[in-house]
Amino acid sequence: MSARAHDHYDLLIVGGGAAGLMCALTAGGRGRRVAVVEHANRVGKKILMSGGGRCNFTNTGTTPANYLSANPHYCKSALARYTPWHFIEMVDRHRIAWHEKELGQLFCDVSSKLIVKMLVDECEAVGVRILTSCAVERIGLDDDGRYRLATSQGVLRAPRLVVACGGLSIPSMGATGFGYELARQFGHEVLPTRAGLVPLTLSGKHLERMHGLSGLSLPVTASCNGQSFSNAMLVTHRGISGPAILQISSYWQPGDALHLDLLPGEDALDWLQRQQAARPAAELQTVLSDAMPRRFAQRLCEVWLPGRSGHRPMRQLDPPQLKAIAAVLSAWPLVASGTEGYRTAEVTLGGVDTDGLSSQTMESRQVPGLHFIGEVVDVTGWLGGYNFQWAWASGHAAGLAA
Ligand SMILES: Cc1cc2nc3c(=O)[nH]c(=O)nc-3n(C[C@H](O)[C@H](O)[C@H](O)COP(=O)(O)OP(=O)(O)OC[C@H]3O[C@@H](n4cnc5c(N)ncnc54)[C@H](O)[C@@H]3O)c2cc1C
Repeated sequence: MSARAHDHYDLLIVGGGAAGLMCALTAGGRGRRVAVVEHANRVGKKILMSGGGRCNFTNTGTTPANYLSANPHYCKSALARYTPWHFIEMVDRHRIAWHEKELGQLFCDVSSKLIVKMLVDECEAVGVRILTSCAVERIGLDDDGRYRLATSQGVLRAPRLVVACGGLSIPSMGATGFGYELARQFGHEVLPTRAGLVPLTLSGKHLERMHGLSGLSLPVTASCNGQSFSNAMLVTHRGISGPAILQISSYWQPGDALHLDLLPGEDALDWLQRQQAARPAAELQTVLSDAMPRRFAQRLCEVWLPGRSGHRPMRQLDPPQLKAIAAVLSAWPLVASGTEGYRTAEVTLGGVDTDGLSSQTMESRQVPGLHFIGEVVDVTGWLGGYNFQWAWASGHAAGLAA
């Protein structure tokens, strides 16, 4: 359908992702005439691919502490007004079966498609018009205060514009820097962006030492710049990944010290002493294989542990040796060289500076009627459903105001 009849909208939303659709259904529910402009051939592509196809759509433990932002207070109001339970109420109303994984993470039982269908059905029920394969060529502000969108399907005009273009991660899914360009066009600051929730890469001897271990997973505590996450680490062909590494990647930048504890929740020296008392004849490598994959324990002994301690019975290890081994186990000296970048990152850190936005309405402080929501804003959640919760909450806040 063409977008030719261009003046009968109250609100135009650029981006039909999680935040844009939530904003549309909320504003439509208030009787606003809404059009969503999506340049991809369908809406909600990231929702479809999320959570391994089952969409980790929220986290029941969501608090503002689960987000990174130059202003950690900015997200508080929207998150308090639209909680995980509000979204769960909608999911239940649409009879979408879900289950809780670890740490409050809620996933669909069947498919992420059901979440996209729910959002589109809600939009249709309140008369929202969704234009797909619609490229925005230019955006301007007319003299009568209306935003003018020149699109591949004609001109659209409305007194309010919501920018919900998302971040830069996974360009193959339609991600562009358009939201940041728009922000700059209207005089907003855009804080430096970088890939978050992303695997870390190794190079040189650090990569060589891991050769043949890819696919192995072990529990670690990863720490950097005052944050710690205890979860699985996965060895990949290019470096390290898994939930603990993805989480800490958002706090790490090249050159920062990354601290990896291979015995999470244990004091390594105390653990070794207990093992020594309980199993004096067992080799260190055998003992370590009970706490981590055998091949990883072997490599640890070959490469990182002092002397040939791996093949020594525990009883032969003297206190200074135990101390040296504990030091490696509690702070494995691995140096990451970079990240896999936007190609595989789940989110983009940084973005539109919240200083220029109202935390109540997501509206620009300097340009009336212009709102920014979702990932394009400098608010980034941890892994585990927090990013969708921000998309829902910020979309809802703007949908109530726009
Ligand atoms: C592989 C993967 C898995 C993920 N899994 C989870 C998960 O399980 N749980 C979780 O909470 N978060 C997850 N995330 C993060 C989550 O998908 C995002 O934080 C969330 O989608 C952001 O919502 P948004 O609406 O701001 O942006 P998006 O959902 O990215 O939507 C932006 C939309 O704008 C459109 N667009 C961009 N430029 C233009 C333009 N110029 N004109 C028109 N339209 C445009 C895009 O095509 C897109 O449809 C995952 C991300 C990835 C990449």
